[in-house]
Amino acid sequence: MDSMTSQLQRNFVELTNRMTKNEALEEANRCLYCYDAPCIKACPTSIQIPNFIKKIASGNMKGSATTILEANPIGASCARVCPTEELCEGACVLNASTKPIKIGHLQRYATDWAMESDAQLFSKGQSNGQKVAIIGAGPAGLSAARDLSRFGYSVTIYEAESKAGGLGSYGIVSFRLPNEVVDWEVEQIAKLGVDIKTNTTVGIDISAEAILEQYDSVILAVGMGAVPNLRIEGEELAGVHDAIEFVKQTKMGALTKDLVGKRVAVIGAGNTAIDGATCAVRLGAENVKILYRRTQKEMTAYKFEYEFAKQDGVEFNWLTAPQKIIGDEAGQVVGIECVKMKLGEEGADGRQRPEVVEGSNFIIKVDAVIKAIGQTRFVSLIEAFGLKHTDGVVDIDETTMQTSNKKVFACGDVVFGNGQGEAMVVTAAQQGKDAAQMIHNRLKKPSELA
Ligand code: SF4
Repeated sequence: MDSMTSQLQRNFVELTNRMTKNEALEEANRCLYCYDAPCIKACPTSIQIPNFIKKIASGNMKGSATTILEANPIGASCARVCPTEELCEGACVLNASTKPIKIGHLQRYATDWAMESDAQLFSKGQSNGQKVAIIGAGPAGLSAARDLSRFGYSVTIYEAESKAGGLGSYGIVSFRLPNEVVDWEVEQIAKLGVDIKTNTTVGIDISAEAILEQYDSVILAVGMGAVPNLRIEGEELAGVHDAIEFVKQTKMGALTKDLVGKRVAVIGAGNTAIDGATCAVRLGAENVKILYRRTQKEMTAYKFEYEFAKQDGVEFNWLTAPQKIIGDEAGQVVGIECVKMKLGEEGADGRQRPEVVEGSNFIIKVDAVIKAIGQTRFVSLIEAFGLKHTDGVVDIDETTMQTSNKKVFACGDVVFGNGQGEAMVVTAAQQGKDAAQMIHNRLKKPSELA
């Protein structure tokens, strides 16, 4: 391996160090073990936070990891990717007097123990003779599978990619979430007897009708797809990337040297845009600019992601919209023509609508463009199951998680959007648990859920 390749590999190693034992004990002993703890209420999966922290303090690592993973089957991933300052740590009572407890770090400390000790924390339930198919092996699908298996269901997951894990395996940058963590979580679920069929696309390798026929219940947890087209000239040029695919390549270890010393423009300012921009920096780009047609106030990336990108040297160009990608004779990107924007009237979503400032066109010289303006929906798959949806967001009964077909439940990104729910990994995990519970409720009390 040449020195450039090994340097790029080092750039993708996990950034945050694990707490030492002394640091973990010291932090655990700062917790007030609040009655009616607000941190639990702020956790979408309701992890019994003071309980797992107390177990760290008393040296009961197995008990601590079990408490976390009981509530959140992908608690090791969430320890790394949750926006804790907006969730549990943001709600910690110690914010008022000193610093909040580092709940995310403690959660990582306990789940790292579970990964390294390879303890079997959960077991498959006694068979109840029911079969469930889950479409998609991302956070929602895996969480549903784990709980259903513990309830005694025979569970099969259909996953189009070559690896299970979904967003964790392909969509979240390695320096925040290394593959080993997701691989371990998937392995724990497979050890419960869940049959994970990878490289299996519903609609190609097996039809939706066959699945509906063969299983007692179905959970649709397919997440979202590729980045949509910008619908501007020059999108076909060499050097234009889809941010999802770009990050996926880095997760798969394909670290291109093509960006070394180059200028990159990232279009969009959500989580994926930040991931694309910070990956580009780690791939040796000389200058990385995020172009966003609104302002910092409207960006959907979390504050910690914004700060992180700024620390990486990413520049933010607000109120800037691309008009055209410019190529040279060889069909390679050499620039991007943009226009300045201003914020106008409030739209239906309560956000001010960006408007073009006429005559403000200008060109930025770039060697590559990364598109990160949201994700497409798996509409044809949703329709293959005959489910009602609104612009690709599956309609569900929020109490029962049932879709327009009572046998099919839906959770995760496929039901987030159009103002419904919040697309966080931890929320998807909880929805997976909820869908599993709803299926189980139907078995226990069939009259309540037709
Ligand atoms: Fe501990 Fe803070 Fe939760 Fe109270 S709110 S139990 S101090 S982590």
